[in-house]
Amino acid sequence: MASEFKVIIIGGGMGGLTLAHACLHQGISVELYDKRDLKAMLSGPGGIFIQHNALRVYKLLNSGQLSQRFYQQGGKILKGGFFSQTGDHLYINSPEFIREDDLGVCLLRPELQQILYETLPPEIVHPGVAFENFEDIGNQVRVSFSDGSTVEGDILVGADGLYSKVRARLQDQERLEEPVYSGTCCWRGYFNTSSLSLDSRYSWAEFWGQGHRFGYFDVGGGRFAFYAFNNTSAGGNDDAVGGSLKALRSIFQDYAEPIPAIIDALDPEKIYRDDIVDRAPLGSQWGQGRVTLIGDAAHPVLPTLGQGGCMAVEDGFELAKQLSVHTGSADNVSELLREFEAHRSQRVTRVFNTSRQIATLAQADTAIGCWLRNWIYKLTPTRLADLQFKWLFDYQPKP
Ligand SMILES: Cc1cc2nc3c(=O)[nH]c(=O)nc-3n(C[C@H](O)[C@H](O)[C@H](O)COP(=O)(O)OP(=O)(O)OC[C@H]3O[C@@H](n4cnc5c(N)ncnc54)[C@H](O)[C@@H]3O)c2cc1C
Repeated sequence: MASEFKVIIIGGGMGGLTLAHACLHQGISVELYDKRDLKAMLSGPGGIFIQHNALRVYKLLNSGQLSQRFYQQGGKILKGGFFSQTGDHLYINSPEFIREDDLGVCLLRPELQQILYETLPPEIVHPGVAFENFEDIGNQVRVSFSDGSTVEGDILVGADGLYSKVRARLQDQERLEEPVYSGTCCWRGYFNTSSLSLDSRYSWAEFWGQGHRFGYFDVGGGRFAFYAFNNTSAGGNDDAVGGSLKALRSIFQDYAEPIPAIIDALDPEKIYRDDIVDRAPLGSQWGQGRVTLIGDAAHPVLPTLGQGGCMAVEDGFELAKQLSVHTGSADNVSELLREFEAHRSQRVTRVFNTSRQIATLAQADTAIGCWLRNWIYKLTPTRLADLQFKWLFDYQPKP
């Protein structure tokens, strides 16, 4: 790889920051631009699962330092599972799923962002610079920003999330159309466990009710993150019921402990509510010429599998690996990007479809639907349930 070959990344979320690490790992120059200032870029609500498929990527980058930092900071993904609203076990992961040398990890989002950022050379990250447009100038791509500045590089990667402006420009639009509302909203945040007696056998748990569900997971340092989903119409807020805490109490008051106790332990100032959306993946071609997309810009999925960000991580790694075989010809760059997109498209489409299917089950809102769902989960042998996801978790990034 010629050292002057340069990748321009738009977006400093987990996808863009991971791609920057992966490019440096392959000896490729990189510059990353994010429209938010640094403080906002390193923020984010609640916690996130970095499942072992994505964690394996981090083990390869930065001489393994990223995964070490994650394990020190976060909570390892150990035994856990799904419960009914009344606390019946529906599924608990099998011991084969929990291998000490191959564990995923959960982190608070700002802590994940901070680690990804501070392990990069600071001069390659440019916060507070908003992408505006790009122009193919033959053997390079010219990128313009809203402050009037421009930069040129060999490849432009849109890692700019759900409302990707890079994707909109590829489609010749000013902005993308609205994504598809899932029918559920989600509250997120975290709490200290000091005043609670959580079952120490589990590092994560999710309780399923009728049209709502509540989950929590260890994010290290005596803190757990939580999420709570509820079927409702789009664009809602909690003003009418007197705030998020009251909304959560009214929906989850009949859940088995520890859910009501967790809600009592929440800081009302630190609860975030969002509408949950996705968008159909783009198929086998995501970009054109010297421009491609990764992560939510290409394939936002529902968070039922906790894999949206993990797919962005895998994308970043696979793209940098693909670029590392670049030979210098202009046609070759475009070909490599199309190969990367085609290679990733099957897997991310499967994650998109499976996330929707599980969301339908998890958010079932009829009594009979919930009864059936709970029985199916209860009667399915754990090994069989785990086997269903072998294709997902068996991903092995090749150095
Ligand atoms: C409730 C919920 C729970 C989830 N849980 C999990 C989980 O447990 N595990 C998991 O893997 N995934 C999870 N996800 C999905 C995950 O959050 C996303 O898939 C992931 O954050 C996508 O990363 P990204 O880098 O592609 O985009 P983003 O994180 O959205 O980052 C995009 C970046 O681009 C910047 N940007 C946007 N426009 C511009 C512009 N014009 N110019 C410059 N910069 C720009 C933004 O400021 C932002 O920093 C969850 C999602 C939700 C909603």
